[in-house]
Amino acid sequence: MGSGRVPAQAVPDHAYAAAVAQRARAESWGDQPYGAVVVLDGAVVGLGPSRVVQRRDPDAHAEREAIGDALRRLGRADLAGAVLVGTSPPCSRCREAARRAGIRRALWGERLEPVDLDP
Ligand SMILES: [Zn+2]
Repeated sequence: MGSGRVPAQAVPDHAYAAAVAQRARAESWGDQPYGAVVVLDGAVVGLGPSRVVQRRDPDAHAEREAIGDALRRLGRADLAGAVLVGTSPPCSRCREAARRAGIRRALWGERLEPVDLDP
């Protein structure tokens, strides 16, 4: 698995738009222009605007926020089977956070470019 290609159809059309909406939220309070969402079974289950400035937390990247939001909403300890969709490529720390949350697939940008989550 890992780098295996999963058909893009597995991610709903509105996933990237949802990530863009999170980027707009972050920008609305003067944060870094990044947004991400977590998609599970075709539904957006986690929202991640960047909150680095808002929370004065250097780890509050959009992807980390989306993962945390999804875990809290679902009341789960992992996000196996979920897909992380972001407006930009995730940094190394966010890729690690995704792996630790059991996420095996991540995509970024309007073209849903695949992200290699392997260390
Ligand atoms: Zn990051």
